[in-house]
Amino acid sequence: MVNLVIGSLGGTIAMVEGKQGEGVTPSLSAKALLASIPGFRHEGSIEAETVLQLPSASLTLADVVKVLEWCRAKVEAGAGGIVLTQGTDTLEEVSFLLDLFWTSDAPLVMTGAMRHPASAGADGPANLQAALQVASAPESRGRGVLVVMNDVIHAARWVSKADALSVQAFVSVDGGIQGRIIENKPAYFHPPQARSPLPGPVGSDHKVGLMVCSLGSETDLIEHAATAGNYTGLVLAGFGAGHVSAKDADVIGRHTSRLPIIVASRTGGGRTAAATYGFPGSEMDLAKRGAWLAGWLSPVKARILLWAISASGLDSKDWRSQFEMRTGAN
Ligand code: ASP
Repeated sequence: MVNLVIGSLGGTIAMVEGKQGEGVTPSLSAKALLASIPGFRHEGSIEAETVLQLPSASLTLADVVKVLEWCRAKVEAGAGGIVLTQGTDTLEEVSFLLDLFWTSDAPLVMTGAMRHPASAGADGPANLQAALQVASAPESRGRGVLVVMNDVIHAARWVSKADALSVQAFVSVDGGIQGRIIENKPAYFHPPQARSPLPGPVGSDHKVGLMVCSLGSETDLIEHAATAGNYTGLVLAGFGAGHVSAKDADVIGRHTSRLPIIVASRTGGGRTAAATYGFPGSEMDLAKRGAWLAGWLSPVKARILLWAISASGLDSKDWRSQFEMRTGAN
């Protein structure tokens, strides 16, 4: 018998229209979300608490740290599985940040909705039910943070939102999905893998900047961020396999001794190269200039990882190895 806890943070799943024609905003409580699946049967207890009520673009990294503490307290108080509901817009980042610090074997499952509750075929109730089914299953233990959308189970490490409005918006490119919900139960394709959560977090008021490289993009923005931005580190969403312009490479090379500068791929799939290209601004050139390459991590996940490592309390001389051990396919 597993005791479950639902924490709601806002998002489309909880959005209703106040005045007609003014658009939906987050308003439904966690209890109302639970009440939207009246047929759901569960042997243990289910507690539902509204933790935040925000569109997910307005969640902050400090909010996520507070949510992590809330989840840890619920597990300490006896919860065997936790479901968090939130907006889908930042689900890939919030889930990854929680996953990096989630030390418990208890499933922490996140979900949301692409259609708001008053729309025909609203997906929130089905997603919440599926997330509860995943959170209560013994096979879900030891898998870190999972994202369940549209009857598909994703690992926080790989999941990304790949469509603005479709019900099938979430994908796990390259790493693949973890499983599916079949006849009300999770069916996983692989056993849980070894995990190595970070210690902490011990602080949340530092900043990691993210900039996108584009054709002829403004090198002075990188210079400005590196010198005047008060950033703990920077991530560049680079071209192709982790490339920037020759001008950007010069600026990057002048600052890597002071702060971590990471180059990821802006393509949405694949990995940064390591030993293919040698032109100025290529992955080999950037590595020689002291930049770190993001491997399989998307730019937004690379930013979350660097932010989490710098929140972990680990010595800054270990940050690079901590980063690199999490950029691989496992
Ligand atoms: N469209 C978003 C959602 O799915 C809004 C948000 O991210 O809060 O919930």
